[in-house]
Amino acid sequence: MSTFKTKAYGATGTPLIGKKLEAMEVERQQPKEDEVLIEVMYCGVCHSDIHQVENDWMNTIYPCVPGHEVIGKIISKGSSVTKFKEGDIVGVGCMIDSCQTCEACQENEEQFCQGPVGPTMTYNGYFRPEDKKFNTFGGYSTHIVANEAFLLSIPEVLDISATAPILCAGVTTYSPLHHWNVQKGDTVGVVGIGGLGHMGVKIAKAMGAHVVAITTKEEKREVALALGADEVLISEDKDAMEAKEKTMNYILVTIPDAFDINPYICLLKWRGSLVTVGLLSKYKSATNNMEVAKYSRTVGGSLIGGIKETQEVLDFCAKHNILPEVEMIDIKNINDAFDKVKDEDVRFRYVIDMQSLKN
Ligand SMILES: [Zn+2]
Ligand SMILES: [Zn+2]
Repeated sequence: MSTFKTKAYGATGTPLIGKKLEAMEVERQQPKEDEVLIEVMYCGVCHSDIHQVENDWMNTIYPCVPGHEVIGKIISKGSSVTKFKEGDIVGVGCMIDSCQTCEACQENEEQFCQGPVGPTMTYNGYFRPEDKKFNTFGGYSTHIVANEAFLLSIPEVLDISATAPILCAGVTTYSPLHHWNVQKGDTVGVVGIGGLGHMGVKIAKAMGAHVVAITTKEEKREVALALGADEVLISEDKDAMEAKEKTMNYILVTIPDAFDINPYICLLKWRGSLVTVGLLSKYKSATNNMEVAKYSRTVGGSLIGGIKETQEVLDFCAKHNILPEVEMIDIKNINDAFDKVKDEDVRFRYVIDMQSLKN
């Protein structure tokens, strides 16, 4: 298998004190016949990038190059690629390949691929079995290789400098709202108004719901209203939370850290559903099952979305004039950006201008 080297930014080991992302070169496989080589133009900064680099899930392979919200240009393609051509602007999200034949893949749910190595994640993933030893490297890089079936078409009306976060934050919030059939007349609570939550507010609003933004921070009230929320609920205000008990049909929780789920369950109306999408660590207190059962409530979870659904959310955003709120940065400022994401000091998603890695 022939390889080539690309410039990237990544981590060489668990970031203990003072250890940060740094410029490096990584070795990638040349595109196979059903793959394309993409020159990365923009890459979003997702909270998962930080979890992975810092080994929060205890599965990181170093060196680790994160980035799974990629917008770029195809610069070469394999001989069997037919849907895309050189020069096309495309998106790459959380996956670059899968077995494409198992039951989950046939159902357009590649994120649940039951093949021998599961889906090939865009970073920290193994290629299909024949190349098992190869780690995948994400979009904090000049180039990336992806299977044709995992490329997203970018609708022309979307501004490509702001589109990247739709590829993870967008589909991660759209998928459960769509799956639970949110519609006009529903009251939807969105917990956590960050990279994911701000997209949740915009998408639920476009689906016709009455949207309640739920945040710990009073200072996020104005920005949440500006995003389109109809109301803002401050979760630390116990009286306000009690006043809203049994009022919401649906709650989308996007908090990226451990949290107590019980106060949010009480906000659900009878037969309401709560879904968590933030990738959390375990919280020490248990779910109050009495609160779940006594009003026939549902507590669930959701993981990204398949490729078909990712295309659907791009088209949905184009139709409803939705774009993520982004702040453009140079790659050299990535460590500072990570700190600010952790401090929730970003409105609402950093996008790296990848030209800055070439310079
Ligand atoms: Zn992500
Ligand atoms: Zn599969």
